[in-house]
Amino acid sequence: MSTNEQLFDQAQRIIPGGVNSPVRAFGSVGGTPRFISRAEGAYVWDAEGKRYLDFVGSWGPMILGHANPVVVAAVQEQSQHGLSFGAPTELETYLAKEIIERIPSVEQVRLVNSGTEATMAALRLARAFTGREAFVKIEGCYHGHGDAFLVQAGSGATTLGIPNSPGVPESVVSKTLLAPFNDLGAVEGLFKEHPGEISCVFLEPIAGNMGLILPAPDYLSGLRRLCDQYGALLVFDEVMTGFRVARGGAQSIYDVRPDLTTLGKIVGGGMPIGAYGGRDDIMSHMAPKGPVYQAGTLSGNPIAVRAGLETLKQLDDEAYEKLESLGRYVESGVLGAIERKGLPLSFQRSGSMFGLFFRSEHVRNYEDAKGCDTTRFAKYFHAMLERGFYLAPSQFEAGFLSLAHSESDLAGYLEQSEEVLSGVFA
Ligand SMILES: *Cc1c(COP(=O)(O)O)cnc(C)c1O
Repeated sequence: MSTNEQLFDQAQRIIPGGVNSPVRAFGSVGGTPRFISRAEGAYVWDAEGKRYLDFVGSWGPMILGHANPVVVAAVQEQSQHGLSFGAPTELETYLAKEIIERIPSVEQVRLVNSGTEATMAALRLARAFTGREAFVKIEGCYHGHGDAFLVQAGSGATTLGIPNSPGVPESVVSKTLLAPFNDLGAVEGLFKEHPGEISCVFLEPIAGNMGLILPAPDYLSGLRRLCDQYGALLVFDEVMTGFRVARGGAQSIYDVRPDLTTLGKIVGGGMPIGAYGGRDDIMSHMAPKGPVYQAGTLSGNPIAVRAGLETLKQLDDEAYEKLESLGRYVESGVLGAIERKGLPLSFQRSGSMFGLFFRSEHVRNYEDAKGCDTTRFAKYFHAMLERGFYLAPSQFEAGFLSLAHSESDLAGYLEQSEEVLSGVFA
């Protein structure tokens, strides 16, 4: 049997950094990533046979828990009929119907292979539909690795972003305008500075890629109003929050109707899928109905679509009630520990998604999140890992619960977590 360390050494020789997506490498917490050999329910096992209670859930998709028997059986059954056809299937229409029924702002939907693809297409469509090239990105929101989104705040008072990866041309991000999360005034300012130029405001309605940050009460409705006022589209990236925080995503909780929505993660039930959809009159601009190009050899893959369908079918009202109650259980436990021990931490949650910030002041945006004590977070992370709890290896990632997590699993987590935190802050 190989150890995690041996496997990581081997992988690093032939895969950049030993991983196929950077955060998996434990870069921000140090140490050796665990190579996962299998997963079931709320647990994952590493290559050394050690078991962990999983709070990553493949970064969101595994809302039913791992290896859900119904989904696994459906994937097995479906795969016997062929793996890919490159031609339409009835299943794709079923999944489209299921999405549209849950998210009323989505009137037409196109399936792609990842969240990244969905956001790239939605941005292209927003630009084409409005005939405008600029767009507003909210700092700290993540929309995959499309060039136009890979931008960070420049220095000083400038709102113009700079590429945050080599290889992204400055000319590509020169049309990406930045505003902080939860700051309506900043977005209004951009609309005034760039009249008639802004195609859309693009954001995660609940930010899940800088820890978890909830929108302030009037933020999303305020963005809706500004977009209407200035003729721009409002695009909600619900790749993480879609079917996670509620049956109809974050937009159903805050009762704000975006023009376009991007989806991924849960919609594929653990298989690679993304989707984007929205208003009929906008989606009708997509090829082959309209002139805006977007395509995919494996898009609408039958196995992935089936996994998504079987996942969504199990996400009924009762499921969301259970997820909410598990989330509430973790919340009250964590808040209790913070209060009992006087820990300098803060916590935010939406349904079965949560963020524990190593900072006592309420976190409103990326600037605040960057003020977290990442050194202490890394200590906490490793001590929890040692005790069999697999949390995201970064302060800036959310935690996820699944229907397979039991209250007794979570009680174990809360108890160990309180003990470890007391040590970390001793
Ligand atoms: C994960 C994520 C993406 C990217 O999806 P991939 O499938 O990893 O390409 C985009 N937006 C948000 C909000 C995400 O959480």
